[in-house]
Amino acid sequence: MEKENSSKIVTRFAPSPTGFLHVGGIRTALYAWLWARKNNGQFILRIEDTDKEREVAGSIEHIKKSLEWVGICWDKGPDTEGEIPYIQSKRLDIYKKYAEKLIESGFAYADPYTEEELESLRKKAEEEKRPFLFRDHRPENPPVWDGTKPLRFKTPIKTFKWQDVTRGNLEAGPEALDDFILIKSDGYPTYNFAHIVDDYEMGVTHIMRADEFISSTPKFLALYEALGIERPELVTLPPILGKDGKKKLGKRDGAKDFLEYKNDGYLPEAMMNFLALIGWNPGGEEEIFTKEDLIKLFNLKQIHTSGGQFNTEKLDWINHEHLKRLSLAQKEEYVLSFLPDEIKNLKGFSLDITKKITPIIIERIKKGIDIIEMTKKGELNYFFENPSYDKDNLFFKSSKIPTQNKYQIQSEYLNKLVNILNDIEEESFNKDIIKEKIWPFADEVGRGDILWPMRYALSGQEKSPDPFQLAEIFGKKETLARISLAVEKLKML
Ligand code: GLU
Repeated sequence: MEKENSSKIVTRFAPSPTGFLHVGGIRTALYAWLWARKNNGQFILRIEDTDKEREVAGSIEHIKKSLEWVGICWDKGPDTEGEIPYIQSKRLDIYKKYAEKLIESGFAYADPYTEEELESLRKKAEEEKRPFLFRDHRPENPPVWDGTKPLRFKTPIKTFKWQDVTRGNLEAGPEALDDFILIKSDGYPTYNFAHIVDDYEMGVTHIMRADEFISSTPKFLALYEALGIERPELVTLPPILGKDGKKKLGKRDGAKDFLEYKNDGYLPEAMMNFLALIGWNPGGEEEIFTKEDLIKLFNLKQIHTSGGQFNTEKLDWINHEHLKRLSLAQKEEYVLSFLPDEIKNLKGFSLDITKKITPIIIERIKKGIDIIEMTKKGELNYFFENPSYDKDNLFFKSSKIPTQNKYQIQSEYLNKLVNILNDIEEESFNKDIIKEKIWPFADEVGRGDILWPMRYALSGQEKSPDPFQLAEIFGKKETLARISLAVEKLKML
């Protein structure tokens, strides 16, 4: 029974493979990981798979993928070879050793009752309107424990006081204690027992976990005492609350499969940033942090005690901020990965235009799947194909053109515009020069009567980037072609 001998900080994330990992689990992992990294310590991923009935196939893979995606890497984990296993189901002999130690020291005994006997004891307590406590029925001469019966802990009946790093001084009386099961009749240990043994053997110095474990802490403390081992620091994390800021985050308000956030286009560093701030912040105004910043700034003192809100708008904002900080090449790759096939399959699709519109797209979106929304609204197609539109929409809504000859006059204006644009050298065909050249003419006849139809001829959209920007993106040839097409339309009867 050797404890890993080291003074370094060791933390762990200990999920049970019972389904999808949600944001709450990842936040727990993140705090444990940050604390280990900050202290040059060790972070362990331990799989707690002792409840075989609740196990869901594929969960371990999902847990690993989720952590990897968000950037949490573990030093020891289920795949670590040649050392102690970090999966509880492979550690059964270890728990057995500890169980025997407890039997020897009189702290554990085999539960002699059949299910029916237990049931009738329970019923009796119910009839007498008193809580059922197993410790009131301890057998005088328990059978020898042969592994076929549950092994129970002979709990001390006393008050426990302890200090939680975030919650301060806590206390619970004997009513919180009963003779709980250490090892079930199927040979697997309970969570209550296994994690104590594992944390000790793995040299864990800090346990980060949710507040639902506070009520079980007296059991854990009783076990540490009975085993004569020192306990790690207990760091209770604040709950994650839903949108209303009151109830714990439920399935409906966002506790979805963590990897869905990846598919939606949230950047891992944004997700990490966002999760770190649910329940902790380093003080000050700044809210955008890189992984390195978080490692540097993270501390236990500034973990909150009250619940932190899971606010999707904030997540979106943080994601947008991180998107803005990507390099141009990264932005291009990101946009390209979310552009739907509907766009990529257009005849006129080009990587060159995609590159040019990347900054516009990034400015408009919070996350990758917003690009799909933009496509649906027709905000992207026109970059790669001629827009189709009704020629009457080419007129500015407060147009100064007299209605009588409006088609003719508007087409003359646009012809003039074509001439002006044609005089600009190809190399100088950028938004500043285009604007400078067009401006005097637009000013002369009415800006709206030039800029609106120019923009509309290029995009066919009520809303789009300004005409100078569009012209620069399309280049001289395409810009002239689209405006000339508008002239043709205006001339058609
Ligand atoms: N297996 C436990 C759970 O998934 C771990 C709790 C702990 O961190 O100790 O809730």
